[in-house]
Amino acid sequence: MPPNEVFAPAKINLTLHVTGQREDGYHLLDSYVMFADIGDRVFVEAADEMSLTVTGPRAAGVPDDARNLCWKAAEFYGARAAITLEKHLPAAAGIGGGSSDAAAVLQGLEQVYGRPAPLDTLPLGADVPVCMVGHAAHMAGIGERVLPLFTEVPMPCLLVNPGVEVSTPEVFGRLARKDNPPMEPWPEGGGNAAALDWLARQRNDLQAPALAAQPVIAEVLEVLDALPSARLARMSGSGATCFALFDTFDEAEAGARAVASAHPDWWVEPCRLR
Ligand code: ATP
Repeated sequence: MPPNEVFAPAKINLTLHVTGQREDGYHLLDSYVMFADIGDRVFVEAADEMSLTVTGPRAAGVPDDARNLCWKAAEFYGARAAITLEKHLPAAAGIGGGSSDAAAVLQGLEQVYGRPAPLDTLPLGADVPVCMVGHAAHMAGIGERVLPLFTEVPMPCLLVNPGVEVSTPEVFGRLARKDNPPMEPWPEGGGNAAALDWLARQRNDLQAPALAAQPVIAEVLEVLDALPSARLARMSGSGATCFALFDTFDEAEAGARAVASAHPDWWVEPCRLR
């Protein structure tokens, strides 16, 4: 039987408000999340022993043992499997690579063994519950509250990563305030135009501390802001990947060509968000 293939899309935080910190240290988040049509691929097969093979253009440096979230996801599900992870997304990049891979493994195991994964996937990480939904959603609490949103899709987007890894705990550690205002209510039924106006008024509270840790992120945002057709540029997650939004996919592709020729060493991917 051929292995089950599951797509693990890049997760983009279009907003990320840090609204508090619990006594146990977990941060309270308020985030609007969408998923790209680019990502990793996960292949899952029933097996007597656990195994993980990491392949693909971004495999370098990604652990292929129990440290990998794919492996942790199989243990959490309670089954052994032969997993192949084809890595296309940069790691430690603020686009949820590991969390999306873990969600894909759980979905692959559901297909292989015909048994649903536990409903509460938060123990695998704050981003895993939203990755199980896999399309536009409002994420809140410590990641356990996920409200799917109906948006006009797809939203044309350009993702750019300057090739520096950012440590999420370090960025949270540099955050000046943990009690920032939450997001305004989502503009229900307004389409992409209303969503863009709304997005421009929201924030990523991790952007300033990430810029302090990796100043090249400021350069990425300047380059994206300077693209004539970019409607909004911001950092995703704890960085360093930044995104720009456009009215059309042709504009996103033209932006990609301009950024890639000026910065051939940056990871530059036009995509569609849903
Ligand atoms: P964020 O959660 O802020 O969006 P991220 O999810 O992009 O960040 P990951 O790509 O998950 O960050 O990588 C964080 C670290 O986790 C890496 O440095 C790597 O060592 C480890 N890791 C574990 N599993 C994976 C995986 N499947 N893919 C990539 N990295 C992984």
